[in-house]
Amino acid sequence: MSTAIWWVRRDLRLDNNPTLRRAVETGLFVQPVFILDPALLNDDAPPRQSFLMEGLAALNALLRQRGSYLLLRHGEPIQQLALLARELEASIIFAEEDYTPYARRRDAVATQNLPIQWVTGLTALHPASVVKADGSPYTVFTPFMKAWKSMPSSLTGEWKAPAKLAGPALIESHPIPSFKKNTIFPATQPEAEKRLERFIDDGLFSYAESRDRLDLDGTSSLSPYLRFGLISIRQLFAAAEQAKQQAPDSAATKSAETWMNELIWREFYQSILYHFPFVTYSAFNPRFRAIPWRDAPQDLLAWQQGRTGFPVVDAAMRQLSTIGWVHNRARMIAASFLAKDLLINWQEGERWFFNHLVDADIAANNGGWQWTAGVGTDAAPYFRVFNPTLQGIKFDPEGNYIRRWVPELANLPTKLIHQPELMTALEETRYNVRLGRDYPRRIIDRSQTRERTLNAYQLSKDGFTQPYS
Ligand SMILES: Cc1cc2nc3c(=O)[nH]c(=O)nc-3n(C[C@H](O)[C@H](O)[C@H](O)COP(=O)(O)OP(=O)(O)OC[C@H]3O[C@@H](n4cnc5c(N)ncnc54)[C@H](O)[C@@H]3O)c2cc1C
Repeated sequence: MSTAIWWVRRDLRLDNNPTLRRAVETGLFVQPVFILDPALLNDDAPPRQSFLMEGLAALNALLRQRGSYLLLRHGEPIQQLALLARELEASIIFAEEDYTPYARRRDAVATQNLPIQWVTGLTALHPASVVKADGSPYTVFTPFMKAWKSMPSSLTGEWKAPAKLAGPALIESHPIPSFKKNTIFPATQPEAEKRLERFIDDGLFSYAESRDRLDLDGTSSLSPYLRFGLISIRQLFAAAEQAKQQAPDSAATKSAETWMNELIWREFYQSILYHFPFVTYSAFNPRFRAIPWRDAPQDLLAWQQGRTGFPVVDAAMRQLSTIGWVHNRARMIAASFLAKDLLINWQEGERWFFNHLVDADIAANNGGWQWTAGVGTDAAPYFRVFNPTLQGIKFDPEGNYIRRWVPELANLPTKLIHQPELMTALEETRYNVRLGRDYPRRIIDRSQTRERTLNAYQLSKDGFTQPYS
C-alpha cells in the first residue's frame, strides 16, 4: 500500500488535528514526519526550542502507543521530504498551512516540487477568507472580529485519532535533540487538555474580571500550547461557544465572550501577518516609521534584566527571564515602558521577547509590540502612555506579583511596594532594602519622558508626506 506523509509542523498533537485527519482519511499508511530545519533552530531562544523538542518527544510517545512513530530528519525541508517521499513511496503529503514570510516562501517551493496538500489549522478560519466585501483585508480589530463571528462556523468536527496508526516498514529516524523538561509548561497534549479543562471549570466564567489581574491565575495559560499546536484552536473556540451557551448569568456570558474575543485577536494578528508581511521589519502605520529612537544600551540592558527601578516593569521582565511566560497586562506595561518611556525602538523589545518567550509567535508578538508602541494597525492612540506605577496599583493591588518576582522588595508594605523611592531612610532600614544597593533607583524621571516621546512621534508624523495607505 502507498503512504501518506503527515508533515508535522506547528501541530504537535493527534486529536482534533485536521491535517492528520486528512491523511488518515486517505486510507493509506500514514507516516508522521518532522524536519528540523537549521534555518529555524535558534540557539538564542532556549525556552522555545526546548519546548519544541519536549513536544516532539511527547508526540512520538503518543504515536508509539498507537504502533507508529515520529520520523525525524535534519536538513533543508523540501530536499528531505523529497528523499523521504521516495524512500516511503509516498503519493501524497499533508501539512498545516503556516503564515510567516519564511514559511510561505518555503511552502511555495514545496507546492511546486512535492505532491502536497495544505490544510487550514493554525487558525480556525483561513486569513484569506475573513476579508471585506471588496476582498481587501481588515486592518482594525473590531470590524475583523464582527466579520469573523458572522462567518459560517467550522468549529465543530471534534475528531479523535484512531487507536492504531500503523505506518509502513520502519525507516530509521534521527534522534530528537536533548531538551530540558519544562516544569511550568510541560509540553504534552494531555497537559494542554488538562489546562483547558481546569480553565473551563474555574476561570472562564470570571475571565472578564480577573484577566487583567497580575496577581491571579485569571487566564488560561494555553499560549505555549497554541504556539506549537499541542491543542487545537478550533477546540478552544468550540469551548468558548459552549461556555457562552451554558453561562449561568450575564457576567459569565460576558467572560466567555471576552475570552472568545482574545482568541480572535490571535486570528487577527495572523491575518495581519498574512496580508502585510512587511510588519516583521517595519511599523504598520507609515506615519511612525521615522521615529528618532534613542540609542541607549544601558537603559535597554536595565530593561532586559529587570533593573529599571519601576517594580512592576522589573517583575514582568524577571518573570520573562525566569519562566519564559508573562501575563498579558505585564507584557503591555513592560513594552510600553521600553517604547514610550525609554524611547527605545520597539523592535529591540520585540526581538528580546521573541527569544525569551516559550509562546513566542511572530504574529502575536509583532502585533502586541506594534499595538503597545502605538505604531500598528489598531486605534490605540500613540499619545497614550501607560503609567507603570498606576498600572501596578490597579492590577496588582496588594503588590503580590511584585513580591513574587522582585523578592528584594518582598518585605515592603503595600503602600510602598509600587513606589519604593518614597521610602525614608528609617523605612529602608526597617524593611531591609537600600535603594541603589539592593534595588535600583529609577533609571528615568517620567515627568520629563512623556514630552520627549510625544515630540519624537510628532517628528515622524510631521515628516510623513505620502497619503496613508
Ligand atoms: C508585547 C506583547 C507581546 C506578545 N507576544 C505574544 C507571543 O509571542 N505569543 C502569544 O501567543 N501571545 C503574545 N502576546 C499576547 C498575549 O499576551 C498572550 O497571548 C497571553 O498573555 C497568553 O496568555 P494566556 O494563554 O493565559 O491567554 P488567555 O487570556 O487565556 O487567552 C487565550 C489565548 O488567546 C490568544 N490571545 C490572548 N490575547 C492575545 C493578544 N493580545 N494577541 C494575540 N493573541 C492573544 C493567545 O493565543 C492565548 O493563549 C503578546 C502581547 C503583548 C502585549
